[in-house]
Amino acid sequence: MSVDSVSGVSGVSVWDNLVGQRHLIPILQTAATVSADDPERRFGKGMTQSWLFTGPPGSGRSNAAMAFAAALQCPHGGCGQCHECHTVLAGSHADVNLVRTEKLTLGVDEIRDLVRQSALSPAGSRWQILIVEDADRLTEQANNALLKAVEEPGARTVWMLCAPTVEDVLPTIRSRCRLVTLTTPTAPDVTAFLQRTLGVDEARAAYAARASQGHIGRAKALARDDDTRRRREQVVSYPGRLTTLADALRAAGELAAVSKEEADAVTADLDAREKADLDAGYGVVDRGRRPREYGPALSALEKDQKRRATRRHRDVIDRGLMDLVSVYRDAITLAAGAPVTLVNEEHRREIEQLVAASTPELNLQRIGAIFEAREQLLEFNVQPQLVLEAMMVALLPPGGDQ
Ligand SMILES: [Zn+2]
Repeated sequence: MSVDSVSGVSGVSVWDNLVGQRHLIPILQTAATVSADDPERRFGKGMTQSWLFTGPPGSGRSNAAMAFAAALQCPHGGCGQCHECHTVLAGSHADVNLVRTEKLTLGVDEIRDLVRQSALSPAGSRWQILIVEDADRLTEQANNALLKAVEEPGARTVWMLCAPTVEDVLPTIRSRCRLVTLTTPTAPDVTAFLQRTLGVDEARAAYAARASQGHIGRAKALARDDDTRRRREQVVSYPGRLTTLADALRAAGELAAVSKEEADAVTADLDAREKADLDAGYGVVDRGRRPREYGPALSALEKDQKRRATRRHRDVIDRGLMDLVSVYRDAITLAAGAPVTLVNEEHRREIEQLVAASTPELNLQRIGAIFEAREQLLEFNVQPQLVLEAMMVALLPPGGDQ
């Protein structure tokens, strides 16, 4: 189980960290005014003991859950200033436990830990809050363990589950939850958030907001990291550069390699830290020898890390593919003559050329080919490079020099 903090940004209230989700604030705020000691009144204000936060990736599902958790623990309903608010948002509050996974599935052991915790009385005077960040990844066993706990919660227990859509959660579980639906934040909302929290200038914030298409984490990375921006620029330049079969193969190789580089940059630190923790846990460093149990533990860790690296690599490729889709979508928008800001506004000239050299139907087919590749990349056993090669070939201009 890993307990993690949200963005670490402190605002005037806990709700300030929710980007573009104003519609939710009154609902959560009202529910948070209900006292844990008053079980009779809580239902009138929409308070319930199980919540399901849904929304597209990057819309801030777990941030919303954390803000709500802070409001529930705060004596002032989420002031953002007190000790309760600070510790919840920093991930160190004793009565708020969060589970998230880097793996493809969330297993029964992690959920059992949480269920055990849910049965305890809160250390403070309010609620015992359990947040499951990836409720869509629960294994069948984990789902069963969770269902039992959600069916019969302790008097002060609050469950908050997060998933992309309601369909991702077992019907028996979701029927017991109050649904909180996040929407994709708009570009102006994201722009204002980046300016306020990162202190970047408006042009940079607006670029990152547009290019991220409402994914907050991605927007932050684009706003503050030049390498991330450079990698994205490379991807969005492909449609204008693909002419021959050799171009397509080169682009596929590049995208696979660049994604691996980005994924490795994230996982390398994490891997090293976990290995150091393992070594310390088995006394390898202090005593200078390896107990018998160390070997199996190390190989289990390495297996997990390898799986995580694979998944991270696929995630980065997937984001690149969505960037690529944004270029063809822009071309379709431009061809339709709609007077709107393009996602890739700074590449308007190249996109105009793409429009001149193609048709909306062709670009729609290309988007179809990219989505097909995304589907294939969900399979654990496929070779990303082969999938990307087939996809890039499908993006070539018809009858080109092949
Ligand atoms: Zn507070």
